[in-house]
Amino acid sequence: MNSRRQFIITLVPAAVALSAATHALAADKVDENDPTAKAIGYKNDATKVDAAKYPGYAKGKVCSNCMLYQGKAGDAAGVCPIVGGKLVAAGGWCSAWVKKA
Ligand code: SF4
Repeated sequence: MNSRRQFIITLVPAAVALSAATHALAADKVDENDPTAKAIGYKNDATKVDAAKYPGYAKGKVCSNCMLYQGKAGDAAGVCPIVGGKLVAAGGWCSAWVKKA
């Protein structure tokens, strides 16, 4: 067996295994209608928050500047423990928002 063929035979299963592992680690995006998300008034788009119902909301408060948000700066979404470790939108909001220190 030539070395190129051996390389491909070795590499392809490794790539498939890595891809499967990466997918297994990726968290699901939380649904606004998820009972937990609904209970805390979570919205994927903070501008859609009903400010009359949630007076704690103010413009500029978003998941990405919440203490509980585990995404990195610039990420579109990040894990939030409040919604069971699912992904929340960087521009989302919920009534459990706490200013990032
Ligand atoms: S706790 Fe913070 S990061 Fe989690 S959904 Fe609410 S505002 Fe977003």
